Amino acid sequence: MATGRFGVHGGQYIPEVLMEAVTELTEAYFTLKDEPGFRADLQNLLNNYAGRPSPLYYAEKMTKDLGGAKIYLKREDLNHTGSHKINNVLGQALLAKRMGKKRLIAETGAGQHGVATATAAALMDMECEILMGAEDMKRQALNVYRMRLLGAKVTEVRSGTASLKDAVNQAMGEWVRRIKDTHYVIGSVVGPHPFPVMVRDFQAVISAEIKEQILAAEGRLPDAVLACVGGGSNCIGAFYHFIPEAQVRLIGCEAAGQGAERYDTAATITTGRVGIFHGMKTYFCQDEFGQIAPVYSIAAGLDYPGVGPEHAYLHEEGRAEYVAVTDVEAVEAFEYLSITEGIIPAIESSHAVAYARRLAPRMHKDEIMVINLSGRGDKDCAAIARYRGEDLVE
Ligand SMILES: *Cc1c(COP(=O)(O)O)cnc(C)c1O
Repeated sequence: MATGRFGVHGGQYIPEVLMEAVTELTEAYFTLKDEPGFRADLQNLLNNYAGRPSPLYYAEKMTKDLGGAKIYLKREDLNHTGSHKINNVLGQALLAKRMGKKRLIAETGAGQHGVATATAAALMDMECEILMGAEDMKRQALNVYRMRLLGAKVTEVRSGTASLKDAVNQAMGEWVRRIKDTHYVIGSVVGPHPFPVMVRDFQAVISAEIKEQILAAEGRLPDAVLACVGGGSNCIGAFYHFIPEAQVRLIGCEAAGQGAERYDTAATITTGRVGIFHGMKTYFCQDEFGQIAPVYSIAAGLDYPGVGPEHAYLHEEGRAEYVAVTDVEAVEAFEYLSITEGIIPAIESSHAVAYARRLAPRMHKDEIMVINLSGRGDKDCAAIARYRGEDLVE
């Protein structure tokens, strides 16, 4: 899809000054992506640095407990740096290096994407600057320390609401300012073309592996694939190779926060409207004047006001379903998977686990469900303890 359109969604809604950078990136990506040397270098990093392939684990206790579909967990939580984010970051860092860039910049909300980008920059000997909202820097002090330890400069963003969306705005400005030596590593399937296509391609390794692993284990494709949706990168990665397989249900689990009918939500497809922001046309949470609405979820990685344009398209085509999962359900799933399987999932991934708990009992015992476990939950323990009224002191 060279035009970067998914139906009416996607595109390149950017100021003139960004066009040069985006065009250079588009040409470089489509030239290099199938080049055998580039692919071999990326595969080597994915296997030997990030730890791929990640296991597809049969969750037998959870399966028995829920009494329906056979449940498999795709263990992206076991990747280096603790989530799927490294798949994309290694791809983009390698591409930037090939383009002759010496510096990576990235925005980050919870800090996971910032840590992954700082990691790749350290590995590849590149300069790194991470832009982060002032509020997020306070809440994620440990991740700020990690990024600095890895050699990155962390810059505080004070504009707007000093949150993730403002960090994205500032990163775009910074990219324009230093186009010559800088690549902007976007952390999800959002932004102007080619990012939604490129990030999806880098994350598609997830569904490529699931397909091979489930065929080896069960001799057939799954009946349902579930993943949580923030911007949508782990989800589209888990969906991608199943999109042409019409019998596989694809289910994206959005963060409803306090409830999709309430103001404090981040369930973009469930509650949002089509608009244009951050270089793309897609669904956004908006107020009655069409301004981007403040979003909320207990999962910092899911509270982005937009969603990748390919998800908007899959939703409108009816190929994928998008459901809303509240904070309350996600926290219960966080605790449930910990006690049932001995796996502490990221609070983001817990949204998919929560919906699986609703859906699996309604499926037949001979049906198969795969849940993409996008990350590990160590980072969330203090926040969930606080949510339960317990203050942890380190
Ligand atoms: C960042 C993050 C997400 C949300 O990002 P997507 O692009 O929607 O995948 C989900 N899970 C984890 C563990 C994350 O770190």
